[in-house]
Amino acid sequence: MSDRNILITGGAGFIGSHLADLFLEQGHTVFVIDNLSTGRLQNLQHLNHHPRFHFARADILNEPVLDRIMSQCQIVVHLAAAVGVKLIVDRPVHTIETNVMGSEVVLHTALRYGCRVLLASTSEVYGKGTRFPFNEADDVLLGPTDKSRWAYAASKMIDEFLGLAYFQEYGLPVVPFRLFNTVGPRQTGHYGMVIPRLMSQAIRNEPLTVYGDGSQSRCFCDVQDVVGAIAGLAMHPDAPGKLFNIGNTEEISILELAKMIRDTAKSKSEIRLVPYADAYPSGFEDMQRRIPDISRINMLLGWNPKISLREVLVRVRDWLEITGQE
Ligand code: UDP
Repeated sequence: MSDRNILITGGAGFIGSHLADLFLEQGHTVFVIDNLSTGRLQNLQHLNHHPRFHFARADILNEPVLDRIMSQCQIVVHLAAAVGVKLIVDRPVHTIETNVMGSEVVLHTALRYGCRVLLASTSEVYGKGTRFPFNEADDVLLGPTDKSRWAYAASKMIDEFLGLAYFQEYGLPVVPFRLFNTVGPRQTGHYGMVIPRLMSQAIRNEPLTVYGDGSQSRCFCDVQDVVGAIAGLAMHPDAPGKLFNIGNTEEISILELAKMIRDTAKSKSEIRLVPYADAYPSGFEDMQRRIPDISRINMLLGWNPKISLREVLVRVRDWLEITGQE
């Protein structure tokens, strides 16, 4: 595989920074654009003097900067987005505009230079689906438009439609992918993500805040596995024009997860059940289950997650302890 110039938008974020590490290890040249709204420079600090790494602090809607960088790239991985349940409920306008307009700008700039576009979407798109596991070909059921929580899923659906339309109409090689719960070092609990939040609480011996009765479940995929999947899709000749789930298929209830986190941190924390009404703004609906069907990406790349939840919890614990982050 020849070395490429690859732009990662949102590359200072949790997933983007791990992807930058992987592409650099593979011998590629990496450009990152990030406005540092939720991304952090610390995530990229170790790459500061890397000869094949370039960073631009800029907004994704800054077209001249995007154009200048993309004119030198063959691939763009578009991760820049408004993410995290908290942000979406607090700032719906920002969410919709960043997600939809950001992808628009990336796609039409990519068309100018014929770049392959890897377009990050989310398992939120499956909304209230009740058929498990979630398959890329499933119908989608979202809630009403007066509940801002659904704006995130809808904005990402528009991104997918738009990306696939660029493929159909202009032949631009676009690969949308839906990320399920992803976890690992550098993920912050500030935007509501359950594992860093509960692990920080456990380290401090504070109560672990489990929302509802904790019977809701998720499948957590190690970020190393996730970036391996994204890099595989970025290079495979048959990926463009298709949509892919990326996630782990091992399901765990949040109550069980809290117990595992407490064990991992050797913590004395109690587990506190927090009613949904106290945890989220009124009208918020939590998903009960979310399980990916990963047969499509497995068929194309032979990809399967390799890292267990137990292993990633240890890495998250160590990272939180060493860096003192929350
Ligand atoms: N959650 C929880 N306590 C927390 C944060 C989250 O019980 O302090 C729950 C949340 O209600 C959800 C699950 O953990 O059922 C995963 O939440 P997260 O925000 O990490 O991801 P998502 O909701 O997008 O799956």
